[in-house]
Amino acid sequence: MSKLLEGKCALVLGVANRWSLAYAIADAFRREGACLILTYQGERQRDAVETVGQELAAAQVLPCDVASDGELAQLAEKLRESPGRVDAVVHSIAFANREDMSRPFVETSRAGFSLAQDISAYSLVAVARTVAPLMTEGGSITTLTYLGSTRVIPNYNVMGVAKASLEAVVRYLASDLGPKGIRVNGLSAGPVKTAAARAIPGFSSILDYVAQRAPLRRNTDPREVADAAVFLASPLSRGVTGNVLFVDSGFGIMGL
Ligand code: NAD
Repeated sequence: MSKLLEGKCALVLGVANRWSLAYAIADAFRREGACLILTYQGERQRDAVETVGQELAAAQVLPCDVASDGELAQLAEKLRESPGRVDAVVHSIAFANREDMSRPFVETSRAGFSLAQDISAYSLVAVARTVAPLMTEGGSITTLTYLGSTRVIPNYNVMGVAKASLEAVVRYLASDLGPKGIRVNGLSAGPVKTAAARAIPGFSSILDYVAQRAPLRRNTDPREVADAAVFLASPLSRGVTGNVLFVDSGFGIMGL
């Protein structure tokens, strides 16, 4: 059977370690024949991501703190040199201050709100602007989102508002970039135990709650999220843009 991403070059932002959703996605992209480029946030993450990059046979592992326009410009420069073209991008990045996820939402500070929006939502705009000129044969941009964008999830707080913003960013980018053949979608994953998720107080009880009540009666496996990301990066989804695809054992449809 031919591989779904053969001949495609994929940029994956947000691998921190083997538990990252971006790791599962990069692994599935590799399985499907994509050439991989990974990024790391800063020097502190460099060694870990380089090790993971070797495991995944990544062609390049490059620095990129999405808070820095300078680093995004350097990333664009590096990508222009090699491989010169990008076909798929995965944006798997979010950040909020820990205290903004452990006190009442009404206590959110102006600075904490801005930070969550900047790293978790605006960065998708900045990344899209960086890679779009390199998507010379069209492309696919996929970001990771969560149900907390539209429903109140305990302690998700400022991150829920940032995810609402991120999903609106998906729609506006899809409209802007569609004429260039670039599709932009969100993947709404059910809760998975990762470093980012551990920052949310009570996360384990969310996992238990979902496993008991989701239609499939189990939690989300990162490989399920990864296979959906393959679909969104591949020609199989060529008619899909501006969408949010739920990979959450169906939990998001439930009322009571
Ligand atoms: P993770 O901690 O493995 O990944 C988060 C990544 O964001 C890390 O690689 C970190 O380095 C990166 N990051 C943070 N600030 C950055 C910056 N300034 N510049 C560059 N990179 C930066 O956790 P994860 O759960 O795999 O999170 C990935 C994405 O999936 C996030 O957007 C998260 O909100 C989303 N998501 C997670 C879950 C879950 O339950 N784990 C569910 C739905 C959506």
